[in-house]
Amino acid sequence: MNARRPIVIANWKLNGGIDLLCSSVASFIGKHYEAEIVVCPPYIYIRDMLNFLQHSEINIGSQNVSKYASGAYTGETSAQMLKEAGCKYCLIGHSERRAMFRENNASCQIKVQRALENGLTPVLCVGENQQERENNVTKDVLIRQITESLEGIKLEDGSICIAYEPVWAIGTGKAATPEMAQEVHQFIRHELSAQYGETQAQSIRLLYGGSVNKDNAKQLLTQTDIDGLLVGGASLDPDHFLTICQQA
Ligand code: PGA
Repeated sequence: MNARRPIVIANWKLNGGIDLLCSSVASFIGKHYEAEIVVCPPYIYIRDMLNFLQHSEINIGSQNVSKYASGAYTGETSAQMLKEAGCKYCLIGHSERRAMFRENNASCQIKVQRALENGLTPVLCVGENQQERENNVTKDVLIRQITESLEGIKLEDGSICIAYEPVWAIGTGKAATPEMAQEVHQFIRHELSAQYGETQAQSIRLLYGGSVNKDNAKQLLTQTDIDGLLVGGASLDPDHFLTICQQA
């Protein structure tokens, strides 16, 4: 049984300006989709996107969140602020943040906690790099990322999402095959079941990300344990993104 509503999240990364972002989703206004659609703009555009999308069903997410609640942390944005701004989701631990901004499982754990405390749904990003896959340690890496990032966190049904994004597939045009992705998603759900129980594991939506486009989305989405997609580059192309969302 799979009662999990499919979800497609656009990760717009550091792209703009507002005209480009609006044109990526203009065709969604006034339409209904089976899947939940979420866009994650740069912080500065969150309010603009909320206004632009007010007659659409699209939800807004952030690409990151501070691990701090308030205080002397120049340049940071807290979970409470994101909630106030209208965000429903927030990405946590994207591989670009891990690689370039020194994020690790410990900081992700705090961020997940902050998000949950403030009513945001965290989308925890995990995934192995090329070297780790070649060394056959993908599963070890994923267990460590998930266990440490969720350590001590009390989950309610469906209160988090997990995005499996193999680093070697991000922005490379080399997506995981549907079978490869399903194998990993099944493994993640199995681990979640072992740690949190089967009911909890069945309630958590697992997304695949990494070079998703309109040509591979459908096959990925038909896999049993893939509940959604996290889309980078293709989400800025209205033709690709609309088709992906229609297939979900
Ligand atoms: P991509 O990015 O779709 O461009 O590979 C995915 C992501 O980084 O979330």
